[in-house]
Amino acid sequence: MSEPKKLYIKTYGCQMNVYDSERMSEALGGQGYVETQSPEDADMILLNTCHIREKAAEKVYSELGRFKGLKAEKPDLKIGVAGCVAQAEGEEIMRRQPLVDLVVGPQSYHRLPELEAKARAGEKALDTDFPEEDKFEKLKNRPKAKRGPTAFLTVQEGCDKFCAFCVVPYTRGAEVSRPADRILREAQDLVERGVREITLLGQNVNAYHGAGPDGDMTLAGLIWELNKIDGLERIRFTTSHPNDMTDDLIEAHGTCEKLMPYLHLPVQSGSDKILKRMNRSHTAESYLRLIERIREARPDILMSGDFIVGFPEETEEDFQATLDLVEQVRYGYAYSFKYSTRPGTPAAERPQVDPQEADDRLQRLQALITRHQREIQDAMVDRTVRVLFEKPGRLAGQMVGKSEYLHAVHVSGADLSAGDLRNVRITASGANSLAGEVL
Ligand code: SAM
Ligand code: SF4
Repeated sequence: MSEPKKLYIKTYGCQMNVYDSERMSEALGGQGYVETQSPEDADMILLNTCHIREKAAEKVYSELGRFKGLKAEKPDLKIGVAGCVAQAEGEEIMRRQPLVDLVVGPQSYHRLPELEAKARAGEKALDTDFPEEDKFEKLKNRPKAKRGPTAFLTVQEGCDKFCAFCVVPYTRGAEVSRPADRILREAQDLVERGVREITLLGQNVNAYHGAGPDGDMTLAGLIWELNKIDGLERIRFTTSHPNDMTDDLIEAHGTCEKLMPYLHLPVQSGSDKILKRMNRSHTAESYLRLIERIREARPDILMSGDFIVGFPEETEEDFQATLDLVEQVRYGYAYSFKYSTRPGTPAAERPQVDPQEADDRLQRLQALITRHQREIQDAMVDRTVRVLFEKPGRLAGQMVGKSEYLHAVHVSGADLSAGDLRNVRITASGANSLAGEVL
């Protein structure tokens, strides 16, 4: 029997890329590949890239440059670029970095086996189409191997919102939802392999409107169907847009016992002027009212968000409005970024904020967010939370898991295995995690 070929995948960016990397690895499994953690061992290296952060493409080129030596030693090594940089750069990647054999966009990775065969035959293989066929339908069923207790499951992709700063509508394409029955089958299969918590993923996950048995299903409808799966204990979803927070989804947060009390709901700015220029189509006030309604449904929900500071034409007054909004919401987690231009997006052409001013605002915003985060985490001490244990911690005899609020919780000296779900009394709050004892 011939040795299996080895695949090294490096994943950048969001959870959707983590999910895509798993599916790409499974797709190449059919071509005789098994994964390796070391690029030196690999017969194929695949970079699954993200285009959201600044100079994303440049970072990919410099990473590719590092494989020159490996390729010289092992001429049969195939090097591929997948994901959003692949989509945005296309053929340019092979022109600028001739050691690349394969380029595949996020909507075409079901065609990886054919592309890999083409690359093996010594040809350059490129596919950055937005094909008509559904890639998830074309992918093989996920192989039946035992899994850890948590898994991602992509239910929706792409975005039609065209926020003025964002590349997603260009790199991931139009908004598409997967049919509900396929998702439910995939979820059932994950649970049979040991998964107890599923995070539903989409760039705009709460805009989900996949075909169901009686017409289109909403995300809340899908969550209620998942709620019926025996053995599935927890459901989460990310990332949501404020305008798609429908009444049924807010209500599910109050009534669906498997839906966890955590919601990532990016607002980006607290200034109505900036929100308008960002093409966000919500105001600070409508966002705050929405959070009020969500908290009425589920008072203990932990809110998380995304912010951009230094968006073109943002003044100190606009920035103050963002700080005010953060004060009112008090996020348990929040991700904040300094605006950076993405060629081809509307905001790229506008007058930019002084970079030092933007840095200063970012620091002030992060200091406030960190303070709230810490206060919310510290307030968990002496409370009892339910922890899904995921893996051993760094210390001997320690296990780490997540509470329903997504706080990392460490427990030492208890007889625990990955997948156990236990009540834990929180005894201490550290820099980025909690410690506790099993009750
Ligand atoms: N769909 C989500 C939403 O509606 O807000 C966001 C998805 S985006 C992939 C993740 C985050 O990256 C955004 O929320 C935004 O804060 C940040 N981001 C996107 N484009 C950016 C840019 N040009 N500069 C700085 N941050 C950016
Ligand atoms: Fe990008 Fe999110 Fe806006 Fe869509 S809704 S364009 S993914 S920031």
